[in-house]
Amino acid sequence: MRIVVQKFGGTSVASEERRRQVAEHIRRAREEGHAVVAVVSAMGRRGEPYATDTLLDLLTHVAAPHAPDPREQDQLLSCGEIVACAVVAQTLLREGLPAISLTGAQAGIVTDGRYGEARILRVKTDVLHRLLSAGKVPVVAGFQGVSEDGEVTTLGRGGSDTTAAALGVALGAELVEIYTDVDGMKAADPRLVPEAPTLSGVTYREASELAHLGARVIHPRAVEIAMEGHVPLRIRRTGSDDPGTLVWDRPHGGRIEIRSDRPVVGVAHVAPLTQVVVSGHRDFNEGSLNARMLEAVARRGVSIDLILVSPHQLMFTVPEGAAASVQEALADFDVEVALTGRLAKVSVVGAGMHGVPGVMARIARALTGAGVEILQTSDSHASISCLVDADRLPQAIRALFEEFELGKGR
Ligand code: ADP
Ligand code: MG
Repeated sequence: MRIVVQKFGGTSVASEERRRQVAEHIRRAREEGHAVVAVVSAMGRRGEPYATDTLLDLLTHVAAPHAPDPREQDQLLSCGEIVACAVVAQTLLREGLPAISLTGAQAGIVTDGRYGEARILRVKTDVLHRLLSAGKVPVVAGFQGVSEDGEVTTLGRGGSDTTAAALGVALGAELVEIYTDVDGMKAADPRLVPEAPTLSGVTYREASELAHLGARVIHPRAVEIAMEGHVPLRIRRTGSDDPGTLVWDRPHGGRIEIRSDRPVVGVAHVAPLTQVVVSGHRDFNEGSLNARMLEAVARRGVSIDLILVSPHQLMFTVPEGAAASVQEALADFDVEVALTGRLAKVSVVGAGMHGVPGVMARIARALTGAGVEILQTSDSHASISCLVDADRLPQAIRALFEEFELGKGR
């Protein structure tokens, strides 16, 4: 059986018109001889009645001034996708497609039970295989699963992408399609660079770096699951025939062409961030003071980035919303803590960047030329990131876009 998994994001299932287009994508895949599993996100964005953020606001109000209980939060948030899968399945039935909706638990998605950020441990595929063999179209609620002891757990922001990738791998699908509200993965966030071209193909590594570094069109975990399972992904627009972006280890059917004159494929960003600089008179290595401070921050559930550890200074960034927690976490240590808010991390990504001399020099020249001060940097095999003032982010992105000729696309 040739299986495709088609995932439809929040805006793709939010209106009657979009849901009709969803039905057309599914019908077409079936006419081409595929068995289709659909995965859906909650309908719409904050403010719309069944959107994830609307449900979150509801519980936040009830719990105030405390944070909602994590178990009750997952219990409620899982309902957004359940509403969506029933509405989409009913739409498909009306359009003559033999659909059947399933919650994550009914679809056999087993998680590790961590509320709010669960990982999928395995997928029990017997129910899905039985439905597909009977010619049905399962419509699975994304973003959720159930632990071994029956606890409903959600997978974190963008978790429906992860559901789709995990189902694709578990079912041995030929392809996982991520349908969204843009034509594919772009060379920069289309909200900041409207003319950014759609990338025809990127490697798993590039897609995962872009996603980790802020391109929220796909969840990085989804890319990693697809990579481990050798299933290609295609990111495309709902209601469009445009082929979108193929994410694979061979995005152009052969080995990817690495050009040292075009080392960067895209730029991504995260904002707003706060930089934390901890300093003091004693050596932070003594008595593992550095480790104890980092542990205190970690205990508050704050994830840190752009970390620099030296004997008399500890430096890292956190999402702006977590700055107060960091201050509380470090209050009992005899150190000075300085916070700088309104910052952004801008990153360039490209598999062809590794070992190419002069990339950092080009970044520095482009940013300073645009009046953007570099506060800190970090790099990996396929990316370089710079911390900059959030107010200068549009200029920073545009300067890098032009320096690396990203308008030419790939
Ligand atoms: P969905 O609800 O379909 O999952 P998301 O809102 O999660 O949709 O992701 C799509 C959005 O990601 C786009 O509307 C766009 O604003 C944003 N985005 C950020 N960076 C990129 C990029 N490099 N390419 C495409 N979209 C991007
Ligand atoms: Mg998404």
